[in-house]
Amino acid sequence: MLAPGSTIGILGGGQLGRMMAVAALQLGYRVVGFAPEGDNVAADACTDFITAAWDDTAALARFAQGCDVVTWEFENVPLGTVAALPQHLIACPPRALEVAQDRLREKAFAADLGGSPAPHARVESAADLSAAIAEVGTPGILKTARDGYDGKGQWRVRSVIEAGGLPFPGVTCIYEGFVMYETEFSVILVRGADGQVKFWDSTANLHEGGMLARSVLPAGALVEAQVPAARELARKVADALGYVGVLTLEFFATREGPVFNEMAPRVHNSGHWTIEGAATSQFENHIRAICGLPLGGTKTRFEAIEMRNIVGEEALEAHRILAEPGEPHLHLYGKREAREGRKMGHVTRVGHALK
Ligand code: AMP
Repeated sequence: MLAPGSTIGILGGGQLGRMMAVAALQLGYRVVGFAPEGDNVAADACTDFITAAWDDTAALARFAQGCDVVTWEFENVPLGTVAALPQHLIACPPRALEVAQDRLREKAFAADLGGSPAPHARVESAADLSAAIAEVGTPGILKTARDGYDGKGQWRVRSVIEAGGLPFPGVTCIYEGFVMYETEFSVILVRGADGQVKFWDSTANLHEGGMLARSVLPAGALVEAQVPAARELARKVADALGYVGVLTLEFFATREGPVFNEMAPRVHNSGHWTIEGAATSQFENHIRAICGLPLGGTKTRFEAIEMRNIVGEEALEAHRILAEPGEPHLHLYGKREAREGRKMGHVTRVGHALK
């Protein structure tokens, strides 16, 4: 168990790191962040924050010197950065990053453990792209295999005619068949170093333009029926990785069962509701897991919950939400610029308390 007053290092400087840092501070830890130049909103909640390139080995050595354990809030932290740190500090297995950083690899990993991803093909060239579209069919989505997030690095292909006008983006891609799903949902779990696993309830996730807009509970009968199979896969993924901390798997609920979409080896936007809505939040349980503390309960505390993201300029007026009925819980991430399509905060609304 990591003693109170110890220091947790977080790689990445976004809102997930910020909310993780708040949870860590509450438990009596200090937090040091590390991220390249940018709007590192986690820094506001960190005891210390190092702004340096991912490959700045001198800065990484300084960071490591001040840490008793290291975690990440961002799945695209380069593997070389993690490898440059003393390995005994790394709480979560780097293999989880390696798998999650590549859409082709994560789909193969899940499929090997019994998961069902969408039909897909690897695309390395213009010729591969035509072959993939012919094999998988339309509609479909072309995605860069690496570095995509919130719908970026994705091109929808509605028809064969449209496919003809789609150039090969020049980097390794995956072409996926479009899944005719009813709802999207995620499984979020926490796994302790002793192998204990706890799941939060699965919300129905509604996306707009490839980005999460809302997460709601109850998620509906279809999702509820598919959660056991999805959890089984998530547990197998966590066990196979020897995972420690919070892990998220995203699924499409289809009439034929859950289709695995992707995994995130970290806390997740669709779990923000757990701050007010669950016995223990995803952020706190992640900190507990990496510090070797007893995991908290994950039970949902209210009959109905809705988390909605606050995006772009909406944040400038967001304080008005506080005057609305129903005691909404407003979270703003402190980002300096309210750019279009940027996650600026979220609001969680809860219904009646569950007994
Ligand atoms: P991703 O970055 O893979 O999570 O994609 C972002 C969002 O785009 C997903 O949450 C879905 O709303 C949508 N999407 C991605 N892949 C597919 C697919 N194969 N079929 C249908 N919708 C998809």
